[in-house]
Amino acid sequence: MSLVEAHGLGRMFAARRPFRKPVLIAAVNGVDLAIERGETLAIVGESGCGKSTLGRLLLGLLPASAGSVRFDGADLAALSAPGLRQLRSRMQIVFQNTLAALDPRMPVGRQIAEPLAIHGETQQGLRHAETERLMRDVGLDTALMERRPHELSGGQRQRVVIARALATRPSFVVFDEPVSALDVSVQAQIIALIRKLQASSGFASAFISHDLRVVRHVADRVAVMYLGRIVEEGPVAEVFRNPAHPYTRALIGAVPQIRPGMKAKRQRLAGEPANPSQMPSGCAFHPRCPAAMPVCAKASPGLADISAGRAAACHLLTDPQSAIPQFA
Ligand code: SF4
Repeated sequence: MSLVEAHGLGRMFAARRPFRKPVLIAAVNGVDLAIERGETLAIVGESGCGKSTLGRLLLGLLPASAGSVRFDGADLAALSAPGLRQLRSRMQIVFQNTLAALDPRMPVGRQIAEPLAIHGETQQGLRHAETERLMRDVGLDTALMERRPHELSGGQRQRVVIARALATRPSFVVFDEPVSALDVSVQAQIIALIRKLQASSGFASAFISHDLRVVRHVADRVAVMYLGRIVEEGPVAEVFRNPAHPYTRALIGAVPQIRPGMKAKRQRLAGEPANPSQMPSGCAFHPRCPAAMPVCAKASPGLADISAGRAAACHLLTDPQSAIPQFA
């Protein structure tokens, strides 16, 4: 049994439109995935592809419109409120915007200690000692304990947020673009910190990012999302070395320096993702796909195994029999 399992997971939102009825759009659509204990799954894709919504669904922070999420075998939707609260101590999230994630008036030490109090640590002395340990673990000077968030740098604030997330010793953490707002040099430090903490604490994670250069350094496997669906999944080194889905190829081609030996010429991904309220028929990527065939506008390809440990959703790769006759 995997630590986190999603089956047919979906989430609809009502999108408001001026002078017209709201329209339902699928931010996440039919996602199946599994995350093993101690493993990092990167979830990548362009802005608006549904990766942050997927992260919240995996934690039960958003109710699913379809499908299910199981954490350590427990169906999140079937849990009572106290049951979900208890499970929450084992699942945490780290956001990109640290100023929004932290209380501007509260000393950071108290914010790190807060989850300990919420989850039952009644002794202030023990909370203080644990807060000092957490601060040291994330590379923060304990002398900063009484500072307010605005008195710290962006990198220090992200360390505070990570320390607070780890206070309850979670077994699963969602990192939602945790370094996107930081300078490149600070990004590298925070990535190294996440890797070190994961090695010492053994938590599993979902690492959400639009930046493939970052993902390469943190993830074991990668799931590529396009308009709410996973279109390719596999071990990160293999997917980067030999991307199978045309969308993954385009994403990786746009940052050639992440593939050793690849020609330095930068490729541009043509066009923009479709408006989710006007989803293309068939494969949602077909209006932008350089390999599109007639069948692609008619039938949506499912995610299917293409080799050991790898899956993709593309007629070219998974359904050649139905694709090939369309050329005739
Ligand atoms: Fe391109 Fe067709 Fe594959 Fe979609 S199914 S990625 S349009 S070849």
